[in-house]
Amino acid sequence: MFDVNTKDNVKEKNMDLNEFYSELDNLFPEPKCELEYKSTYQLLVAVILSAQCTDRRVNIVTKELFKEYDTPEKMLKLSQSELENKIHSVGFYHNKAKNILSMSRDLIEKFNGEVPKDIEKLQTLAGVGRKTANVVFSEAFKGDAIAVDTHVLRVSNRLGFVKTDNPYKCELALMNLFDKSRWGKLHLQLVHFGRYICKAVKPKCSECPFTNNCIYYALHNTK
Ligand code: SF4
Repeated sequence: MFDVNTKDNVKEKNMDLNEFYSELDNLFPEPKCELEYKSTYQLLVAVILSAQCTDRRVNIVTKELFKEYDTPEKMLKLSQSELENKIHSVGFYHNKAKNILSMSRDLIEKFNGEVPKDIEKLQTLAGVGRKTANVVFSEAFKGDAIAVDTHVLRVSNRLGFVKTDNPYKCELALMNLFDKSRWGKLHLQLVHFGRYICKAVKPKCSECPFTNNCIYYALHNTK
């Protein structure tokens, strides 16, 4: 078992979820995925490349890469070392190149060249874990999912929605807590909130509407 706040004890702590949604809507009315892509396959490649890397850096790399290699078939024309050279600056390029080629091969052999619209099937692809599958399912297919990345995990702990460093446990807890219709937007809002306000180092608490509900703020009284 893990330490999770249910709807009832979130209410007891005076965290009104409708107010929470409303404040997030004020901060980020129309949050968008910051990775640039023109197809579901491109999104999948971009999300794989984004592990431990900024979206900005990934966009620079994919802008060039996708000019010629924007489908699984075209990607497989590259050797591993050729692909490594093209994605070198995103870090972990050896594993990422290996996974992208393997994932592209699987798409052709097992899924007719199409990215599957199914979280479990997505996770059978090389380099695709739970978070990546959820991002693609939510972003490309508009499916109900909450992808938990480092920002969502940090913010959820600071605000007391969860007390865990396990992304999957956090995902289950957030799905239990928040309205399903909000999941996709909420994921993007929490990513933006964590990226621009509730930063890992020196969070901008003076710009945050949740200081009264924040465990981290109560402990650190960060200005
Ligand atoms: S008060 Fe500070 S630490 Fe707490 S959620 Fe807001 S920005 Fe993050």
